[in-house]
Amino acid sequence: MKVKFHNPIVELSGDEMAQVMWAWIKDILIRPYFEGPIITFDLSIQNRDRTEDGVTIEAAEAIKNHKVGVKCATITPDEQRVREFNLKKMWPSPNGTIRNYLNGTVFREPIIINSIPRLVPSWKKPIVIARHAYGDQYKPFELKVARGTSIKISAGSEEKPAFHFDSEGVFLAMHNKLDSVEGFARSVFNYALMRGYDCYLSTKNTILKIYDGLFKETFENIFESEFKVKFDELNLKYEHRLIDDMVARVLKSEGGFVWALKNYDGDVQSDMVAQGFGSLGLMTSVLLSPDGQIVETEAAHGTVTRHFRLWQKGVAVSTNPIASIFAWTQGFKYRGLFDKNDELIKYADKLEQAVIMTVETGCYTRDLAVLIEGETTTNFVTTEAFLEKVRQNFEQSLSEN
Ligand code: NAP
Ligand code: MG
Repeated sequence: MKVKFHNPIVELSGDEMAQVMWAWIKDILIRPYFEGPIITFDLSIQNRDRTEDGVTIEAAEAIKNHKVGVKCATITPDEQRVREFNLKKMWPSPNGTIRNYLNGTVFREPIIINSIPRLVPSWKKPIVIARHAYGDQYKPFELKVARGTSIKISAGSEEKPAFHFDSEGVFLAMHNKLDSVEGFARSVFNYALMRGYDCYLSTKNTILKIYDGLFKETFENIFESEFKVKFDELNLKYEHRLIDDMVARVLKSEGGFVWALKNYDGDVQSDMVAQGFGSLGLMTSVLLSPDGQIVETEAAHGTVTRHFRLWQKGVAVSTNPIASIFAWTQGFKYRGLFDKNDELIKYADKLEQAVIMTVETGCYTRDLAVLIEGETTTNFVTTEAFLEKVRQNFEQSLSEN
């Protein structure tokens, strides 16, 4: 029995081991059970090079039109990759291109499986990190300064003394924009509403009164005027917390909230949280537009190059496909939510449950085996064997009602 959906899902295929797993997942768990229009864009590095990266823009446009995209991990080329694939140019990160096109925010959310031990045992529910991927330290104005230099900043017709150097040193200026922070706030509140989570923003507004003050005030204004009523209806809350206070509380919390962070804080804390929850193979990533109407889902990990090299040599690898499976199921769930297709949501849920049950009944890939039994473990299966077991469990649960 297949479940049907009517509006398209936009599929972005990718590179290396992630793409090999992606194709297996599609053959084994998607095509036989989910029926509807899937519009595919080939985002492999070779095709991005061939199309001068045009395919990435086309894919972003298609996601904007059809509202739901699912993406496989892709190579972001560096000098070495330019040589490896003989690229015309060092093409930009597709994730960055698509995020800018949709003005979206990326949410990183772990998949919680009870039998997988966590570094922070008190974390029982997801901690969802929302990073404001614009400005601050990532678009800096940096300067080496000689002793005796006075730095002045001119803004329009005004000129203000910034600092006098009585020793040689360094200087940094950075910026952010109100419309970007507003978009960030709306994405964050919409995501929290969709997932039914409380929401926190953390900044250091006691030190950066104007700069971080803008983030705090913008979130407060948008929350009060556009979201408070909806949050109250669902009994959810929003609070601003100082970043240091929040870090301490997060470690002691049981999770179950969205944590909005500025660009640099989000970069650092997302790696901390990912480690705390275990494997990268259990981290998902959702890009959501400010109005909450356009989503793209993907695994948070990369193309898993090391495993791909082994696979190319004929080694049966044990790469974790769970986050990639959840990219599909989450995509289906948003499709179902937008189109009021409960049957589709139910099917996607059952597939997720089949994945979790497979792990909980002792069948998993090497990364999870290591978390349970340590580095020397041999108690794991190949990616293909894992997918086959998931398929069997999914079939079983579909036949039960
Ligand atoms: P990576 O692909 O995430 O892999 C780093 C390491 O993490 C792997 O070698 C593996 O560790 C472990 N790992 C990641 N995913 C795993 C999974 N599903 N199952 C088991 N282990 C997993 O990062 P990378 O090697 O730094 O980057 C490779 C390529 O991916 C780069 O070209 C980069 O540009 C691209 N990338 C793309 C995205 C994206 O499209 N969203 C994100 C990040 C990176 P062990 O080797 O210890 O087994
Ligand atoms: Mg980082």
